[in-house]
Amino acid sequence: MSKVVKFGGSSLASAEQFQKVGKIIRAEAERRFVVPSAPGKRFSDDIKVTDMLYSCYDLAEAGKDFKAELQAIKARYDEIIAGLKLKLSLDEEFVTIEKNFKEKAGSNYAASRGEYLNGIIMANYLGFEFIDSATVIFFDENGEFDADKTDKVLSERLKGLKNAVVPGFYGALPDGRVKTFSRGGSDITGSIVAKAVKADVYENWTDASGVLIADPRIIDNPQGIEVITYRELRELSYMGFSVFHEDAISPVRKAGIPINIRNTNAPEEPGTWIVGSTCQKSKYVITGIAGKKGFCSVNIEKDMMNSEIGFGRRVLQAFEENGISFEHVPSGIDTMTVFVHQDEFMHKEQKVVAALNRLVKPDTIDIEADLALIAVVGRGMKATRGTAARIFSALAHNDINVKMIDQGSSELNIIIGVANEDFEQAIKAIYDIFVLTKI
Ligand code: ASP
Repeated sequence: MSKVVKFGGSSLASAEQFQKVGKIIRAEAERRFVVPSAPGKRFSDDIKVTDMLYSCYDLAEAGKDFKAELQAIKARYDEIIAGLKLKLSLDEEFVTIEKNFKEKAGSNYAASRGEYLNGIIMANYLGFEFIDSATVIFFDENGEFDADKTDKVLSERLKGLKNAVVPGFYGALPDGRVKTFSRGGSDITGSIVAKAVKADVYENWTDASGVLIADPRIIDNPQGIEVITYRELRELSYMGFSVFHEDAISPVRKAGIPINIRNTNAPEEPGTWIVGSTCQKSKYVITGIAGKKGFCSVNIEKDMMNSEIGFGRRVLQAFEENGISFEHVPSGIDTMTVFVHQDEFMHKEQKVVAALNRLVKPDTIDIEADLALIAVVGRGMKATRGTAARIFSALAHNDINVKMIDQGSSELNIIIGVANEDFEQAIKAIYDIFVLTKI
């Protein structure tokens, strides 16, 4: 049995956190492959090492002096090394980094040093082999992740190794230059390593006890989710959940490896399991609630629209021509509404209206701004009567006007449109009815 364990930045922000991580890894021999992030925040207004590296490199790129900034980064690592009482010096590494910064090695290279150096410390601390991700994780000439090449080289490299540390977040382009994934990308590395070693579990250690049912900034102390499917998580991530990098799901999902989100500061808690499918019912009918503000609806009305073949296609063409993607398209007999992101749509509004007039000659076009979309997601909804009724009566009792309803054909979610100003209250009302009162 083998597990890949990825630790986020806050789990590795200080020597004290490293010690907790060391304890977790040593507690189970199956925790063989470790993927560290760069040191994160030690306290709320601290700065993540990745951000320090980006700003330090900006100075280097502008030809300004960056010594003090680089020294501050080195101090973060030296503090960890001293706290762990390791016989390790990063002096040589920092000489190389300084030289490469001066030679303008690029901001990807700069940011990647955060996990690279943390990986060296981690390997030294655990007595595991260190593997530079630039030698095992690859991107193609267009900068896209090269899954086939990576899987081949990485699985070969890790074969037969008892333990290893593979730093998160970066790999190499065909010409050898370092390239990073998008922010939060160490999750992706963890997933890639899990696939390469055919791990039984991908453990993702963070500073929260798993995925929560709703956003804790809106709901006080929301409950955690025990088991969630990849599809449910995808729906919720799309609508704003940010526990886990979206692109990290695909490698393990394809390989059928479950993800277990755990809390470094509370390792006794089981956390959340993210799985392909499950016969385990979620504790409540709904698995999670998420949402986003900042949408516009474009309501198009035309008498006898229903008999005009190609009407819908032409409506969407008006948006396509202007490079605007749509979110939802609820329709009636003589109306069709297109939900779009307000910030994307705002500047192109009149161009879209002109295109609609040209393409579909509507009777009226009515635009409404400042709307929010809320997704209520749950695999349990399919088999439960009255879910929609409960949502809408909860909203009605809270005096919230529902502007749009859309149930996905998989019956996995119900999307509701409300005014931006009703957003928080609507989420509270839905959480209340399903989780707190459970009626
Ligand atoms: N250190 C990188 C970031 O801050 C990647 C990661 O932590 O996953 O985005």
